[in-house]
Amino acid sequence: MSDRATVLMARIDELAKFSEEPHRLVRRSLTPALQQANDLVASWMLAAGMTVRQDAVGNLVGTYAGVAGASKTLILGSHLDSVRDAGKYDGPLGVLAALACVERLHEEGQRLPFAVEVISFVDEEGLRFRTSYLGSSALAGSFNPSWLDYQDEQGVVLADALRRFGGDPADIASCRRNSDDLLGYCEVHIEQGPVLEAEDLPVGVVDGIAGQDRLTVEFTGVAGHAGTVPMARRHDALCAAAELVLAVERTGQATDGLVATMGQIAAEPGASNVIPGHVTLSLDVRHRDDAVRTRAVAALHDEATAIAQRRGVHLVWTSMQSTPAVPCSPQLIGRLAHAIEELGFKVQHLTSGAGHDAVPMASLTDAAMLFVRCKGGISHNPAESVRLDDVNVSLETLYRFVLGMQRDMAL
Ligand SMILES: [Zn+2]
Repeated sequence: MSDRATVLMARIDELAKFSEEPHRLVRRSLTPALQQANDLVASWMLAAGMTVRQDAVGNLVGTYAGVAGASKTLILGSHLDSVRDAGKYDGPLGVLAALACVERLHEEGQRLPFAVEVISFVDEEGLRFRTSYLGSSALAGSFNPSWLDYQDEQGVVLADALRRFGGDPADIASCRRNSDDLLGYCEVHIEQGPVLEAEDLPVGVVDGIAGQDRLTVEFTGVAGHAGTVPMARRHDALCAAAELVLAVERTGQATDGLVATMGQIAAEPGASNVIPGHVTLSLDVRHRDDAVRTRAVAALHDEATAIAQRRGVHLVWTSMQSTPAVPCSPQLIGRLAHAIEELGFKVQHLTSGAGHDAVPMASLTDAAMLFVRCKGGISHNPAESVRLDDVNVSLETLYRFVLGMQRDMAL
């Protein structure tokens, strides 16, 4: 077992101490807690022979120069911001795995025919300003300037928080990268799902990030007295909703790889002796194939319409957000798979149901992700847990992946 994995795990514990709250991990974007985490990572980057800077949007960027004349850059990275009451691996694992890879190159005195950048993106989770991918979208050129006016719960405006963090809201455009200068982007991340554990594998290759539809569904019936309106004369909005909830579950179960969830429900007027007259539900549908997802949403709309007609209630079906699936680069998938095979493990392909910085990065350059088994598939929870030997495999895989890139360039 390499002690690089042991060092990484100790660093994860060190970073976990930087929190906005004393008894749980909360590290929102552009806060002093994130600054402390970035400063510590920056000191490790410098020790690994990298030059370090913070760009205008607040990303921490460490660069390990290539051989003289090397013109292209491979970006590795993830994020150090967190959700509320977070686990300590979601994000930091990817930043520290990238750093460990460069440390190994540095110790071995290796210079590659390309530069390797390690980036800690400034805001992946979107906890503070309710917009995710701030840092990576600035690189991809998709940063929306209106985001600078967003406020956090305390009324702090994003642009002001960014200035305090040492960034420059007027210069976000300088973060933008040119695709021609890049070889690709690779991110190591905990799986946040149960597949690798079930397959008893340390790591897996992500084929793509699922597309997602978010909708609001409303049923309007007739509120009435729970004691006096006979069952046959009711237009109960909550009963219509209940039928739809189960239809959503059936639809998800019937299609391979499809996940469909109604996570929020509000019944009005919300009294024990009143028939519910109005119900609002959320619907979240995800799949790696946009056509499958779109068909599922259309079928559910038909189902909801039929339920509403049968029950004499009114349906309002509103799309809130629809994001297409993001395929990972077949070339980079192949390189990761090759590295995993070399290490003697079966190559498990996975779809990421959660979003990552790889989403905006894929619009800029070839993107790939390596997932690491996590205990019980649990994430966004202090119970997040990752095994030392799995981290070791992920470090070895990433290192071989980077060297494989060098081999291919030499051909
Ligand atoms: Zn993450």
